Parts: sequence; structure tokens; C-alpha cells
Amino acid sequence: MDLLNTLVDKGLRREPPTRDEALAVLATSDDDLLDVVAAAGKVRRHWFGRRVKLNYLVNLKSGLCPEDCSYCSQRLGADTGILKYTWLKPDEASKAAAAGLAGGAKRVCLVASGRGPTDRDVDRVSDTIKTIKEQNEGVEICACLGLLSDGQAERLRGAGADAYNHNLNTSEATYGDITKTHTYADRVDTVQKAHAAGLSACSGLIAGMGETDEDLVDVVFALRDLDTDSVPVNFLIPFEGTPLAKEWNLTPQRCLRILAMVRFVRPDAEVRIAGGRELHLRTLQPLALHLANSIFLGDYLTSEGQAGKADLEMIADAGFEVETTEQVTLPEHRRAGGCGSVCGSTDTSVCGSTDTEVPAAEAEVPEARTDLVAVRRRGAGTDLAPNA
Ligand code: SF4
Repeated sequence: MDLLNTLVDKGLRREPPTRDEALAVLATSDDDLLDVVAAAGKVRRHWFGRRVKLNYLVNLKSGLCPEDCSYCSQRLGADTGILKYTWLKPDEASKAAAAGLAGGAKRVCLVASGRGPTDRDVDRVSDTIKTIKEQNEGVEICACLGLLSDGQAERLRGAGADAYNHNLNTSEATYGDITKTHTYADRVDTVQKAHAAGLSACSGLIAGMGETDEDLVDVVFALRDLDTDSVPVNFLIPFEGTPLAKEWNLTPQRCLRILAMVRFVRPDAEVRIAGGRELHLRTLQPLALHLANSIFLGDYLTSEGQAGKADLEMIADAGFEVETTEQVTLPEHRRAGGCGSVCGSTDTSVCGSTDTEVPAAEAEVPEARTDLVAVRRRGAGTDLAPNA
């Protein structure tokens, strides 16, 4: 297929596809799915080999959020039955982190619900970061605390944080449909603050919220313009008790097309399969490793993932290897702090043609797999052992 040959060539050169090319990937048929995976897999292997980076989530503060993000089980007034607890103490967080690291993770993601941290919260998290770093040599730490005020990113960096996560989630055009209590511009501002403070910027999206293909391409192109180092791709977990509980829009094939599109647009960025992996990719998870170079190990913030041991077996069985602390995740040009794209342009007119013969995917009516959603009842905030 001409489209795929063009996209592989561009991906190997770090040259962005056009918007039409990205849309065409999302519109490919199931007949072409393996060709799409194989093509995007070439780009993935060129920049990241067969390494899979494992990340481990520690939910420092669960529920109790005043914001109204409609996809979120921790939102204001949500009746989701999730664990609710306030800040873990540094030693409790470090113990949870150690379980993930022992399971093979190299990055720990410290997440707290809420609009954004107070300065006192930044102090708390700084203490936690220092404790985890003292007790676990070589660990990477990403903080995810919501919208940042001036100076907070610098303080987190000073405490030893390596990265900051704040997702754009969806396109600017539809952002107001999913959240009313803050704006898309607020989110962009925080990603820029993290970047400016020398933190590795991590920002991604949630697919499956009823968005169009154009929305998906818009948000991934926006992330490219922000030059984020890592891109978590979440597949909506339609929690009962949230406004999006009925949004079962994804199929495993659709998830693979989305990941392939993200890989072509962000060829040299860490593309991470995030929440909803087990739920929506199901038995096609191993194929997704050909597209993404990073996953979360174990459980998510408020829901349970598949057993950490099963993740490790899947990686080995699919012919991939867990990235070690000695191996550096990002390609050298990105580590050096240089521009992550060749031209940095959003010019959609320069880079080749779109294969207009690609047939549109047939309309699919995915089944609601509520049987696969399990609220987290173990690990951080409980007396039970974590999944790692
Ligand atoms: S996504 Fe974050 S800010 Fe939004 S409701 Fe959930 S915890 Fe609160």
C-alpha cells in the first residue's frame, strides 16, 4: 500500500505525516490491519528496538476530586465505588513503588487526584520523590498532580522528578464537552510549564469518548507541536457512575489503528499503552507491542489491570524484552534536548500523497464488556499486596 510505504519512510526520517495520511490510517479496513501494524512496527523498532518500558502507577490520593472530567471515576460526585483516601505518606508511597520496581518497572508515576497541587502538596510530593529515590537507585519518577502554578514545576524538578504528566485527552474543539471546570488551554499551559522547567513532558489522550477521527488526529498533532517526550494512549474505561459509562465505542482493531496512527505522527516519542489496555485490546494486546514501546505494569489508578506476571509473559512471548534501568528509553537526539521533529512544521502540504483507495472501516458496534472492569481493591491505600 502506497500510504504505508510513505509513512514508514517518513517515520524513519522523523518527518510528520499529513493530516490526511493520519486520517487514512484510522480509516483502513480490517483486511489491511496486519499491514498497518507491520508498517508502524518498522518505525517503532527503528527508534526503540524490541524494548518495552514498564511504568508503575502509585495513586497518592484517590477520589475526592472537585473537577468534573466526565471520563474519570474520581470526578466530583461520581458514584463509582472506587477507593477514596487522602495523601499517602512518603514511606507508604515508597513501599508501593518498590513493589512495581521489583516487578520490572523502571519509572514510577506518582499521581494525585485534584485540580492541581497547593504549595504544601508540592512539599509532600517532593518528600515522597526524595524518599523513593533514596531507596531505589536509578528509578525514574514522573509526577502527575494536575494543573501547575508558576514555580511548582521547578520545585518538583529540584526535588528529583524526571518527568511530569498532564494529558490533553482530546481535541481542543471537543474539550469543553468532556470537562467544564478547566480548559484545554489550562492543560496546554501545564505541559509547557513542565517542559520549560526541564521536566520530560508526558502528555497523551483518551480514545473512545465519542470523538471523531479528526479529533484524534487533532490531539495527536497538538502533542507533536508540544514536542512531548512520551504519549500515553488511554482507551476509555467506561466506569459505571460516570457520564461516559455507556461509551463502549472501541474494538481491538480500532485500538491498533489508533496506536499505529500515534506511532506514525510521533515516531521517536515513547508511546505508552495506558488505561483500558486489557479491556479494549483484549487478546490483541501482543500486537500492540509492535506499535507502542511502553506500558503500565499491574493496576491502574482506580481499576485493576491484568497480573504483572501475565504482562511479563506476554512481552516475552511476543518476542520483546523489558527495558532495563541501564538502557535509555529515548533516542539520542531527543535525550540531548534537541527538537523532537525534523522540521517541527505543521505544514500539511509538503509530505506526499494520501492513498485515497484505502477503504473506510465498516461501522462496528462494540460489545459493552463491563465484566472486564474491576475497581481496584488492592495495593496503595489498602492493606492488600499490590499487583506487580
Ligand atoms: S481527571 Fe484528574 S482533575 Fe479530572 S476529575 Fe479525574 S482526578 Fe479530577
